[in-house]
Amino acid sequence: MAKKLYLDRDGIINKQIPYVGTLERFFWHYEIIPIVKYFKEKNYKVIVVTNQSGIERGYYSLLDFYKLSSYMINFFLKHDIEIEVRACPHLPEKNCFYRKPNIGMIDDPRDKDDILIGDKELDMLTAKKGNITKRWLISKDISSKYASKIYKSHKELLKDLGIYDNFSESDYC
Ligand SMILES: [Zn+2]
Repeated sequence: MAKKLYLDRDGIINKQIPYVGTLERFFWHYEIIPIVKYFKEKNYKVIVVTNQSGIERGYYSLLDFYKLSSYMINFFLKHDIEIEVRACPHLPEKNCFYRKPNIGMIDDPRDKDDILIGDKELDMLTAKKGNITKRWLISKDISSKYASKIYKSHKELLKDLGIYDNFSESDYC
């Protein structure tokens, strides 16, 4: 069973703005590429877990979401990284098992080295409920009851992994 690196999407892979449904609203956090590469080299399987209630709200369609996902998947592939994308399109009030902080998008069994990286307490709570012990929050402005580590920025995480010096945004955009 491969170790898993779970990534929230909005705020971790792309910049946090509300309801990113199309490419015009998708702006990379390019640091995520070397971060993911680092874990890929350690044989992690990479899984994006994202709440996408914007679909059921009608802000964008499932097809828009697929197009954006396929763009993202291909961008990672260009850097030799295979990712899987899991999403819940439902409204919060439906309390879908797949919508974070429920744990439907997290695999069972878990490996003790599994990691979940997110930018919201909701992500940390999902990881906690899913028995993932490495719960890494990237946020400059929130505190967390459930995070096991807090980074103020993607760059701080790069530094912690020891790969900051090699990072140059122009390698990726
Ligand atoms: Zn759902």
